[in-house]
Amino acid sequence: MFLREAQGRLFAALRMTANGDATGRGMEIRESRRIGLYCLAGAALALGVWAQTDAEEKFRGQREAMVREQLMERDVRDERVLQAMREVPRHRFVPPAWQNQAYADRPLPIGEDQTISQPYIVGLMTQLAAPQPEVVVLEIGTGSGYQAAVLARLARRVYSIEILPRLGEEAARRLQELGYENVEVKIGDGYLGWPEKAPFDAIVVTAAPPEIPPALVAQLKRGGRMVLPVGQTDQNQQLLLLEKSKTSDEVTGRNVIPVRFVPMVEQPGGSGK
Ligand code: SAH
Repeated sequence: MFLREAQGRLFAALRMTANGDATGRGMEIRESRRIGLYCLAGAALALGVWAQTDAEEKFRGQREAMVREQLMERDVRDERVLQAMREVPRHRFVPPAWQNQAYADRPLPIGEDQTISQPYIVGLMTQLAAPQPEVVVLEIGTGSGYQAAVLARLARRVYSIEILPRLGEEAARRLQELGYENVEVKIGDGYLGWPEKAPFDAIVVTAAPPEIPPALVAQLKRGGRMVLPVGQTDQNQQLLLLEKSKTSDEVTGRNVIPVRFVPMVEQPGGSGK
């Protein structure tokens, strides 16, 4: 905002100066005007850089506080997860109008009636999925791309599926701009998983299906973990942690906490449910 204002003023000054030299009062005046212009341009540039650095510093401080107060003081203690969440610029994943709320203890709207999860929920799900540096993770529900970015800092590779093209394409662009080269986003139906890339060491589902999707369980590696909210309505969802045995396809699970996610929708015309 500040930057735009400074630029506006600079252009106004430039216009005034350009219009003002109609009488041709000689080289000297023109020369000193030119020097003046350079000074002005330099000052505006410095102001812009300063304003931007200042904003980034402010967000960094908010991010530190978020990690301390919303994660560490609750039960997210895994140092790798905390470090990832100190690094991912959450404000870049929310619409400009919500940037000043980016580090607040709540979910935020990201358009198309969808939300970016509360930071605590992202931290908790990541900690439960426990991705190690060499693993491959599948995420269902790319949304803004924030959860994918956090996972990408911890795992070798992240595949993420989003059913709404506009959100998925925007998230893919954003992740690329921010340099997350180990994330691949696909527009598609999460109920089907991503068979070509399976099996996965971990699966993180960020929209709530009414029941555990069988295709996802099938695509989970032996010894792998799946974290997902399950519930018929948004009043009775539970966050589940499922673990597949290391030696068979047996799956065990436990309820973690009650949660409220947007529903995992079915693709018109049928799905793999
Ligand atoms: N993980 C996201 C937040 C997800 S919100 C983030 O960090 O921002 C849930 C997302 O799941 C929404 O974008 C929604 O469009 C998507 N979704 C819902 N049903 C889906 C399905 N069947 N397959 C893939 N994505 C789905």
